[in-house]
Amino acid sequence: MGKPGEFLKSGRKATDYRDVNDRTKDYKPVEILFSDADAVAQAARCMDCGTPFCHGCGCPLSNDIPELNDLVSKGRWKEALAILTNTSNFPELTARICPALCEASCVLGINDDPVTIRQVEIAIVEKAFELGILKAVRPDTRIDKSVAIIGSGPAGLVAADTLNRWGFNVTVYEKDKLLGGILRYGIPDFKLDKKVIDRRIEMLSHEGVVFEVGVTVGSDVSYNYIKDRFDAICLTGGAREPRDLKIPGRENAGIHFAMEYLTQQNRRNAGEPVRGEEISASGKNVVVIGGGDTGADCIGTAIRQGAKRVIQMEILPEPPLTRPDSTPWPAWPNILRTSSSHKEGGTRKWTINTKSFNAKDGKVISLIAVDLEWYKGSDGRMQFKEKPGTEQTIDADLVLLALGFVGPGKNKIIDDLGIAKDERGNIKVDSKGMTSVMGVFAAGDMARGQSLVVRAMSDARKASASIREYLLSQRL
Ligand SMILES: Cc1cc2nc3c(=O)[nH]c(=O)nc-3n(C[C@H](O)[C@H](O)[C@H](O)COP(=O)(O)OP(=O)(O)OC[C@H]3O[C@@H](n4cnc5c(N)ncnc54)[C@H](O)[C@@H]3O)c2cc1C
Repeated sequence: MGKPGEFLKSGRKATDYRDVNDRTKDYKPVEILFSDADAVAQAARCMDCGTPFCHGCGCPLSNDIPELNDLVSKGRWKEALAILTNTSNFPELTARICPALCEASCVLGINDDPVTIRQVEIAIVEKAFELGILKAVRPDTRIDKSVAIIGSGPAGLVAADTLNRWGFNVTVYEKDKLLGGILRYGIPDFKLDKKVIDRRIEMLSHEGVVFEVGVTVGSDVSYNYIKDRFDAICLTGGAREPRDLKIPGRENAGIHFAMEYLTQQNRRNAGEPVRGEEISASGKNVVVIGGGDTGADCIGTAIRQGAKRVIQMEILPEPPLTRPDSTPWPAWPNILRTSSSHKEGGTRKWTINTKSFNAKDGKVISLIAVDLEWYKGSDGRMQFKEKPGTEQTIDADLVLLALGFVGPGKNKIIDDLGIAKDERGNIKVDSKGMTSVMGVFAAGDMARGQSLVVRAMSDARKASASIREYLLSQRL
């Protein structure tokens, strides 16, 4: 371990952010990365517990966190990188945007503040880039088997990287012009600088991964075209079908899904043309319906666009500030999460439901909402009822629906292949990540449902191992 007993002497250093007044004027990253000294000091706090829950329970990639902390605390960056990249293909991406499930299960967190593991990981990988240790490496030998990966989000990129390193010939098909899935079009630039994705894509290209962009598999090229040319297929098309709010007035202009709105701003920042009707919060009363992370991303974007006022509404009650009994350590705690965007402005309303939208000349001008009361029903499940006399009209000339996603939605390749779906509408896969069609695998949100980048990556690593097993068994 780094420094025995250090956790008793030094505290957690939380992440710093750029000043609110400064950062809301641009879309540059808001987070300030740790200096090497900060990372070393924080890593030294690791207790090197006998049972590291951060590794086995928290991190979906099972990063060897105590070992990483030990090496960083001794300034052994190169060895730390080797250990980190054993389990994580793109730590520079996960460490920037992961909610840090590892920190929630850090043993130190039982009665103290956990180690800032996420920042230690960014420090390792950025140091490696700085020292030129992390660079493109082409596989020594090639295996005469090919894989088509359909979708270039985190799952697709990880599958491409993993299989390419093993020597398979990998082609990634992506319907957008730029690669990265939600990393590129969805997550705001102030949370993830797109240069971080570009740097990795460039490496993957040098390493031999072939990218076919602007190609929708299922319509631009058929499934038969892919099937004839590749020995295995991995579907990583995401789960982007948004949950709608089918209430009176929904048909009016000015009510949009969060992803339409966020993607437009990503495109503007990249200098790409914006598709469809321009959506802007400038000078508007913005209401974001949905209290999760996507909603928070909308808040930060609306503030940067110059919204007059932003309100975020959530149907559930406000979670407590500290870990409740319902989610004991080492589980991911159901606590109030205040993102960097929340600190930039806006008001959060909890336990409130939207009943209808009011409009003038076909454009939304306000919504009718009502406060709720949550209670345990006779079946033990939580239910809500409206609080009498709380009906309220909230001005809104831009409404953003951030209510989650209901699965992959319509995707011609799924229909063409006749792939079975599960009861939630996601692609059904077996324990090996294979779909109901032999040789066709699926990973990431498309199979799991909308989740986290780190989980999409972990699923893709498992599916890649199964694809390798499948392809090598064909050679026997
Ligand atoms: C706004 C928003 C913010 C988020 N923020 C975070 C965060 O901060 N941290 C975090 O951990 N998670 C976050 N998530 C969740 C995370 O982004 C997803 O879980 C993750 O991107 C899933 O990866 P994926 O590769 O499965 O799918 P996606 O990222 O959705 O990528 C799928 C790709 O497949 C392509 N595709 C689909 N069909 C075809 C086809 N037929 N032919 C060719 N290409 C196709 C799509 O264009 C897309 O590029 C966020 C989600 C959203 C919506």
